[in-house]
Amino acid sequence: MSCPRIEVDLSKIRRNTQTLVERLGPRRIGVTGVTKAVCGHPAIAQAMLDGGAVGLADARISNVQRLRAAGMTGPITLIRSPMLSQADQVVQSCEESYNTEILVISALAAAAIRNGSVHGVVLMVEMGDLRDGISPENLPDIAMQVMQLAGVALKGIGANFACLSGLSPTALQMAAFCDLANEIESICGPILKIVSGGNSATLPWALGERATGRVNDLRLGEAILLGVEPVSGDQIGGMHTDAFTLVAEVIETDAKPPPSPIALIDPTTERLRIVTTSAASARMILAMGHQDTDIPGLSMPVGSTLIGATSDHLVIGSPRTLPKVGSEVRFQMNYSALMHAMAAPDIKVELMGNSSTRPTRHTQGKVGHFARV
Ligand SMILES: *Cc1c(COP(=O)(O)O)cnc(C)c1O
Repeated sequence: MSCPRIEVDLSKIRRNTQTLVERLGPRRIGVTGVTKAVCGHPAIAQAMLDGGAVGLADARISNVQRLRAAGMTGPITLIRSPMLSQADQVVQSCEESYNTEILVISALAAAAIRNGSVHGVVLMVEMGDLRDGISPENLPDIAMQVMQLAGVALKGIGANFACLSGLSPTALQMAAFCDLANEIESICGPILKIVSGGNSATLPWALGERATGRVNDLRLGEAILLGVEPVSGDQIGGMHTDAFTLVAEVIETDAKPPPSPIALIDPTTERLRIVTTSAASARMILAMGHQDTDIPGLSMPVGSTLIGATSDHLVIGSPRTLPKVGSEVRFQMNYSALMHAMAAPDIKVELMGNSSTRPTRHTQGKVGHFARV
């Protein structure tokens, strides 16, 4: 199998989605599966749907188009405010989009009329993350303007947390967001189909003790893909954190390192640093580098340490017996490493655990079922 590659266990993505769907269901919160970290990979998106996600969402129209080209016909929402220049593409491939600018919404309305369709608008509200969002005091006015535009229909409101600020929402912020839903409906009528309370960082609130009020949707990427809560980085109980594995090949080993210190560039500071080598830190070099992934986001194999990386090489120290040249080393990735690796042209994606290639009784236990995409 080719290297470097990402092995994706679709059954773990399916089960992670299912776990969240089952926990949020009793609170009447649906799961929208967010595919941006995997560049809209159709089989991964399908695993989210198979796990019970009610729909899909992505930040980039190119990823949505990839999903459509693969034959996905269900609802897909664009969760980054559309570029004015892409209004036509957005109405052609998405049922709905998240919006903050009336100029863009007007362009979507005109594009929808040209397209003979009605485009759904979810208004993103600024609730403290200070990224994109309409300030709460301007929301009723913009909602009224959307209501009056032909070609678009106001479908809901959404909040976003932790992306820029790194802070999870508080109960007070969530209560204020729910109040906004009621306020809009008191003006526009009971029209809000979607009250989307945020991303994976909203999960601690949504699964906590308090009532979840009007929130009926969460847009989940990281929690489904990596099984962790993004702000703390902690594993979510009962979730798989190893659905993705990055595999790279050893191209050089150095079991007898030179006795003198060697100079290396520290990738985190870009400064030269001196590493003292000893028998306890034999080195291996892998054919993978900064161009392929976010190196500091890799978790090293047990007993190994990251010595450094360049654009195309990864240098790892290991006190143990070094693997042979040509053998493979496996890594887990954080969100940033995953996102970069999935977008890297030299990294192949190998799927396993697919329902169509699920091991039969006969072959269970041997993971021999890979399909290349
Ligand atoms: C990326 C993103 C999400 C998903 O975030 P995760 O932390 O991966 O769950 C949800 N909503 C918006 C607007 C996003 O940009």
